[in-house]
Amino acid sequence: MKKVYLDNASTTAIRTEVIQEMTKVMTEDYGNPSSTHSLGRAAKSILELSRKSIAKNLNATAQEIIFTSCGTEANNWILRSAVKDLQVKRIITSKIEHHAVLYTALVLEKEYDIQIDYVNVKPNGEIDITHLVELLSQETHIKKEFSSDEIKKWVPDNQNLNAFSEEKKTLVSLMHVNNETGNVLDLERIGRICQEHNVLFHSDTVQSIGKATIDLQTIPVDFIVASAHKFHGPKGVGFAFIRKNSGLQPLFFGGEQEKGLRAGTEALHQIAGMAKALDVSYTNLETEQKHIAELKSYLIDQLKIEFPEFKINGNPDGFYTVLNVLLPFAAAKTAMILFHLDMKGIAVSRGSACQSGSVKPSHVLAEMLSEEDLKKPSLRISFSHFNTKEDVDLLIEALKSI
Ligand code: PLP
Repeated sequence: MKKVYLDNASTTAIRTEVIQEMTKVMTEDYGNPSSTHSLGRAAKSILELSRKSIAKNLNATAQEIIFTSCGTEANNWILRSAVKDLQVKRIITSKIEHHAVLYTALVLEKEYDIQIDYVNVKPNGEIDITHLVELLSQETHIKKEFSSDEIKKWVPDNQNLNAFSEEKKTLVSLMHVNNETGNVLDLERIGRICQEHNVLFHSDTVQSIGKATIDLQTIPVDFIVASAHKFHGPKGVGFAFIRKNSGLQPLFFGGEQEKGLRAGTEALHQIAGMAKALDVSYTNLETEQKHIAELKSYLIDQLKIEFPEFKINGNPDGFYTVLNVLLPFAAAKTAMILFHLDMKGIAVSRGSACQSGSVKPSHVLAEMLSEEDLKKPSLRISFSHFNTKEDVDLLIEALKSI
């Protein structure tokens, strides 16, 4: 039976070139990058070349790339250090973020008594930018009550002045491409809004790195994160982009790796594999994007023919790799649909989670759909360049047989 893998937003198959690169590093370059002998120096050189290559692909500087064990770690680190070390007192985020952001924010709210505000989500799953501006303006209002000259009169010492003006220091955390719906946030626009309001901007770019051009000289974002297994690299490795002089402090303590920002011997083979995966992804971006976008629109066309009442969860013009659909099946079929597809060798992801027989909606769809639609089966179909039209045909056939 042919396996049809349409769950690329969960993870992706590793490219052959990446496996070759990793095998080479594991076989030949097993030195510790912190050692001073020649094997160590060779490992260090691979580490720094990987960093440079990643930075170049994102138009950043090498020193702004810090390797982590995954996207989750990078998100946790940035949010936690922003609160703990940069004195962020308020996080503005949304209820459709990945749990790596949502749960971290909730824990920080408890631990540090910070304020969390959620930007409204529109019925199509898009972030309500007008509401974001309103939330940010509340903060501006507090600042405007005191001009900096007035503050200086009362607080002559520079340090206190900072404390004063940073009383409600804010960080906005909004993801670039939503992992469930594929909705895309205009990073440049949000970045400019954050700049105008003098707040920090973090974006979870796990779903878009390697699949969309990201120019960090143009986009005014302070922090972004990546995870190699989402762009045909290995699992268990990612990175954070930390804009120069951000002041972020480490989450882990130990060795002086990553300029003291992330202790622990670097997973060199995974880092080299990640750099290779990113480089190949960006080299092939145009052709692979075209191929995947065509597959997505072919799937939409087939769904229109076979299931005319289906609906797209999210913006129909969302990211080219993801399609989340509400199928016109009875609610009772929700629980067995994935099982049925799996039996036919088709891997997709559910839009609603089934637990002990009862259907628990995904936290993202719960923000967008009506109670009734939430009970119906939603599927997330996510593509890679390895997919073919035949995969789409097999999915459609399998759905028809349900
Ligand atoms: N953020 C988003 C948007 C994701 O889709 C994922 C992966 O599912 C993560 C963060 C977590 O990444 P990782 O698996 O590397 O921890």
